[in-house]
Order: sequence, then C-alpha cells, then structure tokens
Amino acid sequence: MFGDEEDLLDQVSSELRGGIPIPALQREGQHTVLRNFSEIVGIFNRKPKHIIKQLSSDLGAKMTQKGEQLHISKQVSAEVVTASLKKYADRFIICPNCGKPDTLLQGNKKKQELQCLSCGQTTPLK
Ligand SMILES: [Zn+2]
Repeated sequence: MFGDEEDLLDQVSSELRGGIPIPALQREGQHTVLRNFSEIVGIFNRKPKHIIKQLSSDLGAKMTQKGEQLHISKQVSAEVVTASLKKYADRFIICPNCGKPDTLLQGNKKKQELQCLSCGQTTPLK
C-alpha cells in the first residue's frame, strides 16, 4: 500500500507543476458551484476543510462541500477563484526554498509547518 501512496504523491506533484487547476464553475442563481472541487483537493493533496477555510476567508463567502462539489454563497468568477487557489498553493504547498510542490503540511491550529520532500527544508507558517 505504501507503494501506491508514493505513486500518488508523484502524480499529485507533477499535476501541480502543470499549474493551478482550472476551476469548473457553474452559476446557480446567486450562488456558484465549483464542480471539480474534489479534483482540486486531490491535486493540492491537502485536507478539504483546510482549503475551504482559506478560500472562504479569501473570497468572503460561505462555502459548503457537497460530494465532489463546493457550493459558494455568492457569484464569483473563474479568475477570482483561480487567484485564490494560487494564493493557497503559494502559501501552503509551494516550498519557499526550492519552489517545488512536493511538500507536507504538518502541525496543529496554533503552529503549522511546511515540510519539503525535495530539499528537506521545514518552513514554519504564520
Ligand atoms: Zn524545498
């Protein structure tokens, strides 16, 4: 099973190297549905709750995960969501030392750090 996880990690890293995933958005009245949220979660390799928390405060909207999708409580454009995803990746995924996305997010609510599997650097997050 460990071998499978390694394969997944490689895949995840190379996918993010290809750039921030493009959000598939669908308007529903005053709301927006991010249809490929679980795909983005997979590429980011982070906990959905953590991503939702950051996006939610960034976009100033309530967000609810429903299956593979994320429901956003207002109208947002793909550009805005992409910018927010990029901000998340820069802060919580990309290693500030070597610029690679092969990192693990560790710690608790009070203290988080980014551990890089490529260069070995551990970066405390504010
Ligand atoms: Zn690094």
